[in-house]
Amino acid sequence: MIDIGVNLTNSRFDKDREDVVARAKEAGVSAMVLTGTDLESSKDAAEMAARLPGYAFSTAGVHPHDAKSVEDLTLPAIRALASRPEVVAIGECGLDFNRDFSPRPQQEAVFEAQLMLAAELEMPVFLHCRDAHERFLAILKPYMDRLPAAVLHCFTGSEVELNECLAAGLYIGITGWVCDDRRGEELRDIVPLIPDDRLMVETDAPYLLPRTLRPKPKSSRNEPCYLPHIVGEIAMLRGQDTEQLITQTTLNSRRFFGL
Ligand SMILES: [Zn+2]
Repeated sequence: MIDIGVNLTNSRFDKDREDVVARAKEAGVSAMVLTGTDLESSKDAAEMAARLPGYAFSTAGVHPHDAKSVEDLTLPAIRALASRPEVVAIGECGLDFNRDFSPRPQQEAVFEAQLMLAAELEMPVFLHCRDAHERFLAILKPYMDRLPAAVLHCFTGSEVELNECLAAGLYIGITGWVCDDRRGEELRDIVPLIPDDRLMVETDAPYLLPRTLRPKPKSSRNEPCYLPHIVGEIAMLRGQDTEQLITQTTLNSRRFFGL
């Protein structure tokens, strides 16, 4: 199985990054895509991926939280990074009107600039959207024809939003959010609506530790080795065989990122 969203550059992995990767391999994670969220972490993710050839890949982009720190040279630097062989998508990019860490007009401008870049480079995009569904799709849709593929990672929206994302042609990334029967309640109901060929799985580690892990880990830090737990939960909710789900989502991820 492939974890399409690992924030391995996060400082919470500084002490034992190699062990985290070893545990993931042992747990059956066959490849991972390391998320870049700003220029520095995109560089670091590419470096880390280069040290794990054929196993780790990376994205290069600017998260909406970091849109406010984009300077004139940020996007040219992202463009240069994107030519590295281990960089397989532009992102994480999108809109976050939940936290509003960057002013909305700036989030929108930086999002659109990255869509233009991905279209020009003919690369897939790794997308983030929180509480911004309408603006997100309005900005994204005109680019969909020119993008090879697009995935909305860590989908946490409503059924209506899911249907609109699917109609727009998006792939959907599901995290351990789906293991939370309180804030993930609606997601648990709609996860069966995602077509087999549009679904991908991810931990978003170190964030979003699945709430249903037993025994409960001592640390709140999520790790890619917990992906099998998330996959098992998704398979249960979809009434699917776990092995079949792994085969299908692995195929989707390999096709999407060209791994
Ligand atoms: Zn995200």
